[in-house]
Amino acid sequence: MSDVSGAAATWAALNRARETGGYPFFRRITGQPAPGEVLVEGMRAINAASGDYLSLAADPRVREAAAAAARDLGASCSGSPVLIGTWSVHAQLAEELADFLHRSAVLLATTGFQANLALACLFSEDRAVIADRHIHASLVDALRLGAAKNRRFRHNTPRHLARLLEEASGQGLSPVVLTEGAFSLGGELAVLPEIADLAGRHGGMLIVDGAHDIGILGPSGRGAGEHLGCEQDIDVLSGTFSKAFGAGGGFIAGSTELIEHCRAFGQATIYSASMPPPTAAAALTALRIIRDEPEQRAVLARLADRLHDGLAELGYARPHWASPIVTLPAGDADQCLHTWRAMLEAGVFTAPFMPPAVPPGQSLLRLSVTAAHSEAHIDHILEVVGQLLSATDTTCVAADPIPC
Ligand code: PMP
Repeated sequence: MSDVSGAAATWAALNRARETGGYPFFRRITGQPAPGEVLVEGMRAINAASGDYLSLAADPRVREAAAAAARDLGASCSGSPVLIGTWSVHAQLAEELADFLHRSAVLLATTGFQANLALACLFSEDRAVIADRHIHASLVDALRLGAAKNRRFRHNTPRHLARLLEEASGQGLSPVVLTEGAFSLGGELAVLPEIADLAGRHGGMLIVDGAHDIGILGPSGRGAGEHLGCEQDIDVLSGTFSKAFGAGGGFIAGSTELIEHCRAFGQATIYSASMPPPTAAAALTALRIIRDEPEQRAVLARLADRLHDGLAELGYARPHWASPIVTLPAGDADQCLHTWRAMLEAGVFTAPFMPPAVPPGQSLLRLSVTAAHSEAHIDHILEVVGQLLSATDTTCVAADPIPC
């Protein structure tokens, strides 16, 4: 069988890496020796694989809120939000988040993945969901669960979206446009003003997953829509508390009517126990910090800028915003795994992406900056990238190549 997606080659490369101790997945984190650092099975490294962008997971106020809720309320509510799982802390979180996001209502979910799955109840058979090709796996699964006709537009390409919107109108289907705000793999921003304009002109609903931008983008932290000046054109926001909020859980935010519909028909939130109280309390405290302390975002932006400045000197393209996510080309799966390991040995823990998640030969290493990093961390990352990767040649130049 041909290996068009590259999955078989990746599998083989992973098996080779397993034999030589370079398998990258499910590695145990055995400690956090300093802010922004982890022990990966005893190996000390800068943690460049975390989505805790504002370093709130470690914030003493967030920790204390979780600890107090665990003491006062227990570790779980052991039931669905519909029956026994809506406690005061959940109601408070939903209310304050709706207020923060300038939305009428919020539905909480146990994870961001589940929040997106619950969106499937909006994808009825009279609708066409037109989604960016690079949307997250949770949104892809929501498309599969829904009854709508599904179409995918070329990544961030309004012209293609316009064509598919015309087609949907021609078929008498009501369009729903689905995208991320800042994309999870590359950190690039969706061209939301153009996308919103097109959706609006076709009477479509616009849903934006803000997992990687709510809390960190926009003057108030309301995400890519606020940053790009089009948040009023976004009908539905989904997001997670596991990244900028440093907690766990997810949400959908929108009009009261829409949220009532998701409450009634969003299976992923109806048939699953709600966020554990310590997690909800942590998310609530993090939300208040995000709302009241914009300087956290400024710290992150400064560090991200420092990384982008250094990468630009190494020949990498500069993004249009201080994205905390950076992805670097890393060749084929073997090369990617070699470089991943060499970077870990040089003290930088990153996330590898290989086929079929990316096209064959175009593996990537993703680095993320967080407010826990120091300037010295960023400079060390740059030094290691400069030694092990090349902006123009995607061939791995690992100093100490691992035989395969
Ligand atoms: N949406 C996007 C864009 C994501 O990147 C992720 C997590 N990687 C999720 C949703 C799911 O969030 P969670 O980890 O809270 O389930």
